[in-house]
Amino acid sequence: MLDAQTKYRICPICEATCGLTLQTEGRTVGDIRGNPDDVFSHGYICPKGVALRELDADPDRLRTPLIRRGGELVEASWDEAFDEINKRITPIIAEHGRESVAAYLGNPSAHKVSLQLYVPVFLKALASKNLYSASTLDQMPKQVSNALLFGNFLTCAVPDIDRMQLLVVMGANPMASNGSLWTVPDFRGRVKAMQKRGGRLIVIDPKKSQTAKIADRHIAIRPGTDAYLLAAIANVLIEEDLVEIGELESLINGLDEVKAAMAPYVPEAVADVTQIPADTIRGLAREIASTQAAGVYGRMGTSTQEFGTLASWLTDVVNVLAGNLDRPGGMMFPKAPALQANSTGAPGVGRGTRIGRWQSRVRGASEILGELPAVCLAEEIETPGAGQIRALFTIAGNPVLSTPNGERISRAFGTLDFMVSIDIYLNETTRHADVILPGTSPLEESHFDIGFHQFAIRNAARFSPPVFPLDGSRPSEWEVLVRLAGIVSGQDMPAQEYDDQMIRGRIKSLTQKEDSPIFERDEDQIFDALTGVGADRQVDLALRVGPYGDAFGANPEGLTLQKLIDTPNGVDFGPLEPRLPEALRTPSGKIELAPPEILSDLPRLSAGVARKAPDAFLLIGRRDVRTNNSWLHNLPLLAKGPLKCTMQIHPDDADRLGLDDGSMASVQGKTGAVEVVTERTADVMPGVVCIPHGFGHNQQGANLRVASERPGVNSNLLADDSLIDPLSGNAILNGIPVSVSAA
Ligand code: SF4
Repeated sequence: MLDAQTKYRICPICEATCGLTLQTEGRTVGDIRGNPDDVFSHGYICPKGVALRELDADPDRLRTPLIRRGGELVEASWDEAFDEINKRITPIIAEHGRESVAAYLGNPSAHKVSLQLYVPVFLKALASKNLYSASTLDQMPKQVSNALLFGNFLTCAVPDIDRMQLLVVMGANPMASNGSLWTVPDFRGRVKAMQKRGGRLIVIDPKKSQTAKIADRHIAIRPGTDAYLLAAIANVLIEEDLVEIGELESLINGLDEVKAAMAPYVPEAVADVTQIPADTIRGLAREIASTQAAGVYGRMGTSTQEFGTLASWLTDVVNVLAGNLDRPGGMMFPKAPALQANSTGAPGVGRGTRIGRWQSRVRGASEILGELPAVCLAEEIETPGAGQIRALFTIAGNPVLSTPNGERISRAFGTLDFMVSIDIYLNETTRHADVILPGTSPLEESHFDIGFHQFAIRNAARFSPPVFPLDGSRPSEWEVLVRLAGIVSGQDMPAQEYDDQMIRGRIKSLTQKEDSPIFERDEDQIFDALTGVGADRQVDLALRVGPYGDAFGANPEGLTLQKLIDTPNGVDFGPLEPRLPEALRTPSGKIELAPPEILSDLPRLSAGVARKAPDAFLLIGRRDVRTNNSWLHNLPLLAKGPLKCTMQIHPDDADRLGLDDGSMASVQGKTGAVEVVTERTADVMPGVVCIPHGFGHNQQGANLRVASERPGVNSNLLADDSLIDPLSGNAILNGIPVSVSAA
């Protein structure tokens, strides 16, 4: 076998960031396995990692730019594509201003280092306030809570599972998702180890998920009521004198306000709304309080709902009150090797975060962390007047399937004057584009996790060079984004020149900051010492001035990009360590446990406490280990097997409605309806139906041949785009009232 090689690669698909080994021959990938020597994931792999081979080879994956000519998308050269963008976007900006151009970023933007580092370059050049992303369809409530409590939205406490004795998981299914806002490869193995040392896993979820099935206890909860349960747990801790904060107490502002705010939420008051008996709530609170190393972790179900920010905040309130924040075996703050805001600049204090700096034009929704709610995008395109969106860039996103009322957003995209997409597929969204710039295969670019080291169960650093070189006729993704930045800013210049200027600007700024490890160093020397180009060069700079970096010679044993290239299994920096107060970036230098913005939303929560169970069913979503939102459905390895897009319903409810396994059910929400295959299962609590999101691959003009064989339905057609969690602007994708009948 000629040219057979073993390559090392961090999987870029989900947050677990597993280290993989790939056998390659020429441009072909053979066997893919978990890398047993990887310092972080130790050989773990899931089916999606194996499917990287199919993703790389997928004949439907775009490899050439497409331009719309006479209504049809036809292949074009890169120069023709950039010329077309320049020709079409420049007059729109000139005539209607920068706000007339919007950008939408999808979830994979967080998984590719070139996108993470160069999308901001493009957005800065675009200078439009019309920025939208999948964050407001997912984790924005947690980000807002983190920002207000700790001073930065990515300062996120994660379960220190390897030293825990009690983990309470709410609205999350890490067995399927492999962790979210929590980088935790081999969740199952870690739970088994915890159980072996006498620890326990408790899952609180409307569905007995795969995670609930390996748990020591499952508590079913009515969808959308997690904030009530958490407030009641806090109430018990306070009322029964179980609060034991420890050394952290001197670092907390607002403790008395929180204690007062929790007073109404006695377990008996929330038992009806949550459908959890008061005794169960009291027992749970006592168990959390009496376990030395414990933590409460909440994700999608606690976030994508009407009280998303309150529930996200209350998880940290409970963790603080029980003394589990920032201690081994509790909820801890990782220290990432590069580009982590809470380990940059002066330690322990910062500017904090302001939200609501501007409002959306049509419904007046608040800006959150620099963007507007994704549910506002359609109305901002449809509504005439100054500031109307006339052109759109989508980057690795499929909002037609991901946002509520996808049919409306699809219609709105059809009315745009101009649309550009960077994507690997001609999908339900990009079929509306006038120009599509193909993204690279994940194996054709280097990989470094900026975000996920910040949520990791252990401190480590890893880097993967490209498995295959880029086809010489195409630019890398960082160059594409720099070209686009040049076009929208009117300073079209060679990508390398633009990039040199940018990195020199960063070096200059670092050498002028007293708290920088390269304060007053020679700028040219620093520039000349950097390795690589584009994203790699930025990573090198960030690593070297980061907490484990070599500071360009000042700490010769420290990290550099070259050191990581030479160490394909990664570098381990050990278990998480307490980081408070150093990791705080609030102006007070304390944890702001009672932010006024959050307390002001509590009346909305208390108003709902007397709410009775509705006549309607409540719709929830679910994860499957073989899917990831909407974009992996075209890979045969993942698409095969039992039908994934079904409506799960409790057998008692199904009997009442005359629904047999495999029969078609009609599900009606406020904004749309779907007909979906029934799956009867007692895993789902009565009164709840469960449909996964990201399906609906039957739309004309898309080219996803495998996905379209079993297209499924778009459950987000049932989600109401007029509703948001007010503090975070997040869409409400769980606990949606729907009516169900036999189709
Ligand atoms: S768990 Fe995530 S990172 Fe690991 S192999 Fe699967 S998709 Fe890749």
